[in-house]
Amino acid sequence: MKQIAILGSTGSIGTQTLEVVRNNEDMCVVSLAAGSNIVLLEQQIEEFCPKVVCVYQEQKALELEKKLQGRSDLSEKPEILSGMDGLIACATLSEATIVVAAVVGMIGIRPVIEAIKAGKDIAFANKETLVTAGHIIMPMIKQYGVKLLPVDSEHAAIFQCLNGEPHGALKKILLTASGGPFRGKTRQELANVQVEDALKHPNWSMGRKITIDSSTMVNKGLEVIEAKWLFDVSLEQIQVVIQPQSIIHSMVEFADGAVMAQLGTPDMKLPIQYALCYPERRNLPGDRLDFWKMQEITFQKPDPDTFRGLQLAYDAGKIGGSMPTVLNAANEKAVALFLDRKISYLEIPETIEWCMEHHNLIEAPSLDEILETEQQVYRQIEERLNGSL
Ligand code: NDP
Ligand code: MG
Repeated sequence: MKQIAILGSTGSIGTQTLEVVRNNEDMCVVSLAAGSNIVLLEQQIEEFCPKVVCVYQEQKALELEKKLQGRSDLSEKPEILSGMDGLIACATLSEATIVVAAVVGMIGIRPVIEAIKAGKDIAFANKETLVTAGHIIMPMIKQYGVKLLPVDSEHAAIFQCLNGEPHGALKKILLTASGGPFRGKTRQELANVQVEDALKHPNWSMGRKITIDSSTMVNKGLEVIEAKWLFDVSLEQIQVVIQPQSIIHSMVEFADGAVMAQLGTPDMKLPIQYALCYPERRNLPGDRLDFWKMQEITFQKPDPDTFRGLQLAYDAGKIGGSMPTVLNAANEKAVALFLDRKISYLEIPETIEWCMEHHNLIEAPSLDEILETEQQVYRQIEERLNGSL
């Protein structure tokens, strides 16, 4: 039996993970964690009977506990926890053999690190964690002998293309991108973009933060840094290729010039199931590619002027140290402010650039320094917004 812990169970990746669990008789859920969505959590508890549940917001955890007390129909009730301790308890539960890291943002760093220390394999979606703490996490993966299995579709594709090939044969990663809803637009044309426009992704249905990140291409920038850590390559070996139909999920070029690609319909259940079952490849219900219906697969270069965030991510990745944390934290804060309609769309990359310019680099930041840098960046942005900087 695969005993699974899901961090971020109420989100886009979390709910699709539960669909995969539903379709596989040898999978069960031992713990679930979310931020505050106790309505959906209650349904998930009823269906999947986890032993432990964490609701990050304490007040909501108490509410859920109360609701469950009134449920005489539930034979076994889970232990309800809250806060970072609760998240870590879910990630390290002794019964769990694999942890699905699918919370959004840097909140995932500590639970992922603790899960690795507890010897858990990780099905990994929470890219912000690797972008900011890759230099801490990757050595730990080796040290504790656990697997870090990519769920992000591009990285899952690269992982599948590399299967069995020696590391030395890998020359280049071709990281594909749809280009998002604003592909082909100029920077000026994006000046008046509203939240609703940026939330319309042409091919994928995802959480709000990553959907905005896809529209700015900061998501691709984060993925470049994620790929560097996962596949132990330099940034120069990673090339972003726009492939608007999202059919090729990424490619790998080998020393002899051979290029391997993984293709499929845009369905995150494939990488999720592959990560949960690796190295086994199982049946997955759903649409298949139909090469007669598919009219074309086209390619374009990314436009560095319109999508400034992609270049900033390359810059942050090259500088290294605490700079990717600044990029990521500034982006998390700027996206939240944009979603709250407090800053304009073009102020997202502008805020990231400003934070990167005003940062005193730490070469190899410890976990505490990463988390302190995150808070510092949040404070700087708030102060700037309030006019005190
Ligand atoms: P969603 O916004 O849909 O879901 C986020 C999940 O995290 C929710 O369950 C949310 O709970 C939970 N969460 C938020 N804050 C906390 C907290 N403080 N403590 C515990 N749980 C918390 O995001 P996605 O599923 O889209 O993305 C999750 C991660 O996967 C991101 O890092 C994203 O970049 C990555 N990813 C996503 C893809 C996708 O297709 N969606 C593709 C590739 C990568 P609540 O609902 O209660 O707020
Ligand atoms: Mg992706």
